[in-house]
Amino acid sequence: MRSGGRSRRIGVLGGTLDPIHVGHVETARVATAALSLSSLVILPSRVPPHRQNGPSASPFHRFAMAALALSGLPYATVSDEELCTEGPSYTVLTLERFADRWGEGSQIFFITGADAFAEIETWYRYPAVLDLAHFAVVSRPGTPVRSLGERLPTLTSRFRDPRDRDDPSGRRWIYPIDAPTPDVSSTEIRRRLRDGESIQGMVPAEVELHIRRHGLYLETTTADHLQ
Ligand code: ATP
Ligand code: MG
Repeated sequence: MRSGGRSRRIGVLGGTLDPIHVGHVETARVATAALSLSSLVILPSRVPPHRQNGPSASPFHRFAMAALALSGLPYATVSDEELCTEGPSYTVLTLERFADRWGEGSQIFFITGADAFAEIETWYRYPAVLDLAHFAVVSRPGTPVRSLGERLPTLTSRFRDPRDRDDPSGRRWIYPIDAPTPDVSSTEIRRRLRDGESIQGMVPAEVELHIRRHGLYLETTTADHLQ
């Protein structure tokens, strides 16, 4: 591993994950490879500050589906940090807690898709949030990372090539990662399930089984489904 043994390089991928899908898994995988991350934490959020409507599967089901999606990745874990913390899930507050807990020997890389990062100026405690972790920003179909320079001109000096290593300055960087990821969204998956359409290939097989078994994302409740 190129990162050497001295500092743990921990990737954190947050989101509503309602449900987790192959786009999330691939985004996490390409960031892990591009930045030689040593471990990966998937972080379902509690109350997404930018959303009008709450998620449509419970936090328990979202956590369970994330764990199922990652069962084949030995370096990955699912964190209940935001689900168990009162109030909205603000990334800046979570990153502060992680930095305290994991200590100086760790570097945190917060992984986002380019669509989410394009909205960074609206995040709680921007721009301070950018000083708490490195950001790994992965292209999403419709939002390539090369569009970000034009969208966020004040941040271009913070962009750094993911192949560059060992910056002793302690600066926090933004690493754009231009890799193809599947053109899938949770919104489209929820719509398909509501309309009785196939979601095959859009979520890992274990996740689809969980969704079907518990009747998630249908108009009826879980209890109705079991009648
Ligand atoms: P929704 O449609 O409900 O917004 P979503 O598919 O966008 O769901 P989120 O939970 O909002 O999923 O996304 C969590 C994180 O994963 C965000 O940073 C988002 O940009 C990123 N992401 C999701 N899908 C992809 C993808 N296909 N490629 C790259 N990044 C992705
Ligand atoms: Mg989204």
